[in-house]
Amino acid sequence: MKATGNPGLRCPVCDTADLRPFYAQLGVPTHVGILWPTREEAVDCPRGDLDLGYCPACGFVYNTGFDADLNAYGHSYDNALHFSAVFQAYEQDLAQRLIDTYDIRDSDVVEIGSGSGHFLGLVCALGENRGTGFDPSYDAEHAEPLPARVQVVNEYFSREHVDAKADLVVCRHVLEHVDDPAGMLRSLREGIGDRSDTVLYLEVPNGLLALRRLSVGDLIYEHVSYFLASSLRTAVESAGFEILDLRESYDGQFLSVEARPTQVPQAPRPTAPDPDVLADIQAFDEHARKRVTEWADLLDRLAAADERVVAWGAGAKAVGFFNVLGVTTDVDRVVDVNPRKQGTFLAGTGQAVVPPDALVTDPPGTVLVMNPYYATEIGQMLADLGVDANVQTV
Ligand SMILES: [Zn+2]
Repeated sequence: MKATGNPGLRCPVCDTADLRPFYAQLGVPTHVGILWPTREEAVDCPRGDLDLGYCPACGFVYNTGFDADLNAYGHSYDNALHFSAVFQAYEQDLAQRLIDTYDIRDSDVVEIGSGSGHFLGLVCALGENRGTGFDPSYDAEHAEPLPARVQVVNEYFSREHVDAKADLVVCRHVLEHVDDPAGMLRSLREGIGDRSDTVLYLEVPNGLLALRRLSVGDLIYEHVSYFLASSLRTAVESAGFEILDLRESYDGQFLSVEARPTQVPQAPRPTAPDPDVLADIQAFDEHARKRVTEWADLLDRLAAADERVVAWGAGAKAVGFFNVLGVTTDVDRVVDVNPRKQGTFLAGTGQAVVPPDALVTDPPGTVLVMNPYYATEIGQMLADLGVDANVQTV
């Protein structure tokens, strides 16, 4: 897993020429969220390389092996966060907070990467605003109906989308997917032009969690970048914004920035990362190897005991887990409660996604829980089904 590529590249955020490779994993599925209709297609899915480097000057972490051509979004992309009640409450609170803090009422709101337009619709409904979203994966035919005065356009971002009319520009979980995030922020800033009161709200996954939790499911090809507070600050300030607020949110899983445009362009000036964070990055490869060995040992022990094993949770974590271990047939089923996933196959390793009641007719001895957060709930569902299996969290 040793990183292979490109030491000394220029950091795409702060331009320091000292990029240091620290972790690599070759041939990972390029889209963990795509659910394949057959096992063959799942195993033959498009693959790319993770070859991660970090910038010691600003803490920016990115995949130097990323190829944007492999990463076009299709309509079968399944973002399941919407189904969570906790996440819905989070979005509601966030929309209301932005409206109250910046008086976004009877105003124009633009969202870059708006998905189905759900959040944009909330901001517009709660503040009686007008909204335009842009998202290349928007599928009008299958999307939920949009509220009045809200439209979503099926297009990739361009600076023309942010015109001088926008009072609030929202961009959530987009920056980590693009290969030139600093360039995207500069285009956004250019689009705003001379206006000084436009508010920018940016949200990305908290890169610190992926680097500290050692969950390989947090390192995915779709995420070109992993932002820390220092690199996010550097990127936003260098693009010509003044930061009003930078915080961790959603139980530490996200990082967000609220900012306004400044009128004087600034040269990139890196904000240094916390030395502890740099130490975590440097130790990541060794710690990740150790973790993978522990998982391999666990599967070996279960195989030696002739134990029938299934996994529970057909998300990014399962894709990461099975692909890093190269497990295809030893564990051949993953349970998922989401009916849209059932009957499909896991990207890269081809496990069949089955509903919970499939375990009744063909019971496993061990259930590997992919997300420890749900271990109790899964234990209860197994008890309700009358399936007597060991529950093992990964
Ligand atoms: Zn940098």
